[in-house]
Amino acid sequence: MSESTDGITIGFIGLGKMGTPMASRLIEAGHRVLGFDLAADALAHLASAGGTPVHSAGEAAASDVVILMLPDSNIVTSVLRADDVAAALTPGSTVIDMSSSEPLRTRELATELAGRGIHLVDAPVSGGVRGAETGKLTIMVGGADEDVARVEPVLALLGRVVRAGGIGAGHAVKALNNLMSATHLWVTSEAMLAGQKFGLDPEVMLSVFNGSSGRSGSTENKWPNFILPETFDSGFGLRLMLKDMKIATALSRAVGVEPALGDDAVELWSRAAEDLEPTADHTEVARWIASAPPSSAH
Ligand code: NAD
Repeated sequence: MSESTDGITIGFIGLGKMGTPMASRLIEAGHRVLGFDLAADALAHLASAGGTPVHSAGEAAASDVVILMLPDSNIVTSVLRADDVAAALTPGSTVIDMSSSEPLRTRELATELAGRGIHLVDAPVSGGVRGAETGKLTIMVGGADEDVARVEPVLALLGRVVRAGGIGAGHAVKALNNLMSATHLWVTSEAMLAGQKFGLDPEVMLSVFNGSSGRSGSTENKWPNFILPETFDSGFGLRLMLKDMKIATALSRAVGVEPALGDDAVELWSRAAEDLEPTADHTEVARWIASAPPSSAH
C-alpha cells in the first residue's frame, strides 16, 4: 500500500451490523471496496452502497489493504489461513483486524503472518452501529508504528484513532472496556429495577445518576436509548458481549490478575445468554433481569 490513500482498493471481509456502515463510509470517501460476507443480503447492501461484492474472501484479499470485521478470533484465523486468502496476501500486504478478537491470539497471528512478510494491525472499535454510521467510532489501534502510520488515513475515515501500543494492544483494551461496560450494565439494571419497584421515576433516576458518580455508558446511552423505550436495538449482540467479557477475564488471568467481579459478571451474563435467543441484543439483559425469578437470577 502506498503512503497516499487516494482511491485505494480496500478488501472488506465481514459486512454485518458494523461492517456494512463502515464499508459505506469508505466508499463515500472515494475508495473502491471489494466486500465479502457469507450472507447474500450483506453483499446486496454493499452493491447498493456503491461497493463491489465479491464471492470469496480470497478475491477481497487481493487489495491494497484488507479489513476484517468478523465475529471472533476463530473466524479471523480461519479466514486468514484459508488457501485463497493466503495466496492473495503477498509480501507487503497489510491486514487490519477491526473485529473484537483475542489479544494473545492476535500476537500469534501477527508473528505467523510476519513470517510471510504480511503486516497485521489490530484496530477494534467502540461506538456501536451509530458510531459506525456517523464515522464517530473510537478505534483502538495496536501494531508496529510504521504499519499503523500507513493505515491511519483509512482508519481516520471511520472515527478517532487512539494508538494503544504494540500488536494486540487494541484488542486487549477493547475487551477490558467491554467487561467494564457489561458489568456496569448489569448493576445499573438492578439499580433501575429496585428504584422503580420502590416507586422512583426512571427518568428522574437517570437524571440523578448522570449528574452523579453512578453514571456510565449504561446510564447515559443504553438505558435511555434502548432499554427504557423497550426497543432493545443497540445493534450489539449479547453473545458478542459475552465473548468480549471472556476475552477480558482470560487476559486478566493470563497476566496474573484474578478477575473476581469479572468472573461473576461472566456467569450472570452466561445465564441470560442461555435463556435468550442467539440473536438477542445485549441490552436485553435488562429485560431478562426484570423477568427472571430472583432464585434463578441470583
Ligand atoms: P455481525 O454478526 O452483525 O457481523 C459479522 C458478519 O461476519 C456477519 O455478516 C457474518 O455473516 C460475517 N461472517 C461470519 N463468518 C464469516 C466468514 N467466514 N467470512 C465472511 N463473513 C463472515 O457482528 P457485528 O455486530 O458487525 O460485529 C463484528 C465485530 O465487531 C465483532 O467482533 C464484534 O464483537 C465487534 N463490535 C461490534 C459492535 C456492535 O455494536 N455491533 C461494536 C463494537 C465492536
